[in-house]
Amino acid sequence: MIDFEIDGELAALRHRVDEFVREVAIPAEARDSSEHGLDEGLRTELQDEARKWGLFGPQISADLGGLGLDHRGTAVILEASGYSVLGPQAMHCAAPDEGNIHMLDVIADPEQRERYLVPLAAGRIRSCFAMTEPAPGAGADPSMLLTRADRIDGGWVIDGRKWFITGAEGAGFAICMALTDEGATMFLVDADNPGFRLERTIEATDRAFPGGHCEVLFEECRVDDAAVLGTVGEGFRYAQVRLAPARLTHCERWLGTARRALDFAIDRANEREAFGQKLGELGMVQRMIAESVLDIETSQAMIWRCAWALDQGRPARHESSLAKAHVAEAVNRVVDRSIQICGALGISGDAPLARLLNEVRPFRIYDGPTETHLWAIARRALRDRAADASAS
Ligand SMILES: Cc1cc2nc3c(=O)[nH]c(=O)nc-3n(C[C@H](O)[C@H](O)[C@H](O)COP(=O)(O)OP(=O)(O)OC[C@H]3O[C@@H](n4cnc5c(N)ncnc54)[C@H](O)[C@@H]3O)c2cc1C
Repeated sequence: MIDFEIDGELAALRHRVDEFVREVAIPAEARDSSEHGLDEGLRTELQDEARKWGLFGPQISADLGGLGLDHRGTAVILEASGYSVLGPQAMHCAAPDEGNIHMLDVIADPEQRERYLVPLAAGRIRSCFAMTEPAPGAGADPSMLLTRADRIDGGWVIDGRKWFITGAEGAGFAICMALTDEGATMFLVDADNPGFRLERTIEATDRAFPGGHCEVLFEECRVDDAAVLGTVGEGFRYAQVRLAPARLTHCERWLGTARRALDFAIDRANEREAFGQKLGELGMVQRMIAESVLDIETSQAMIWRCAWALDQGRPARHESSLAKAHVAEAVNRVVDRSIQICGALGISGDAPLARLLNEVRPFRIYDGPTETHLWAIARRALRDRAADASAS
């Protein structure tokens, strides 16, 4: 049965998130002036407030202090949180911690849970996920991984350079993907390890992520055997555990952002006049509004479908790929059209839209650039059709 009903409890929770975003997160935006992500003081303050509102960690399992929502519930709540870029930070459902918490919850052993997952889920420390490397290393193609981890007595030594590692500055630990003789493997590396060095924070269009996006060096970085996350050689398989839900939660949060942009533009179109009528009475403005409504509705439908598949225990690689490819483009279109509707106001600091465009633009690149998803979708379609043809 297909059912799009949101039950009473979840609807009440969404209403509470809407209030929280309106009363706490949006007013705090004026105080968010740091260059690379909001400062730690404001983040802590907002997270304390979210705890008081009973909204901390909606997607985090209940035994770790979260609300323990399933993927469908998470989709509804994270979309509402994303109406302000500070909403997900406050509610502790922002990347990269949100994806790392999910992955550690599935893979970490009891000792790793205690040491890394418990404080991370509680918001006492931050984390980062170190996969991407500057050319000629791993980017859209993870098989180009160059960072090495080699066995030494009682542990491993990691060497390699990573970049665009979100939140590395100020993180308590990194999850590093490195190549071993047995294949790609994930390692938990404490930030105070002398072999882990923060080289620089990279200038980027966005600034919503605490710690910014960093270039980091693993140089003769020694870790013991207990630092291996899961099994040696299974790193790419574990990355999939993280990737599908993490892609989806990005879609959910940025969909909320797109709604904010469109609401702003519609309010403007209802007020501002040109050529003797309201902007909203002009056909071409109506078209931009209608196309944005379509982008938002189709995005939500694809997100909910993927969330449903994840709730059935499926890996949902195809569904998350479809959602990511569509939502990243749709959200960017919505924010861009909203700016167009608002004219000069749209790109000014007097409106939130220019900031939002800077925030959503990188989403077309991270968690798989749109083109890699389209490529995978097309190959799957061609392969499935060929299999059908040979079976009949
Ligand atoms: C804001 C931001 C935050 C990030 N945070 C993290 C993080 O925390 N941790 C981390 O490990 N990484 C992170 N990344 C890195 C991100 O995952 C990579 O940028 C992404 O995987 C693409 O790799 P690349 O930039 O090296 O692009 P490249 O691999 O150089 O690809 C460049 C372009 O080539 C095209 N292309 C690539 N493959 C195909 C294909 N098969 N078909 C057609 N066209 C193709 C696409 O247009 C793509 O954008 C972040 C990136 C950004 C922008």
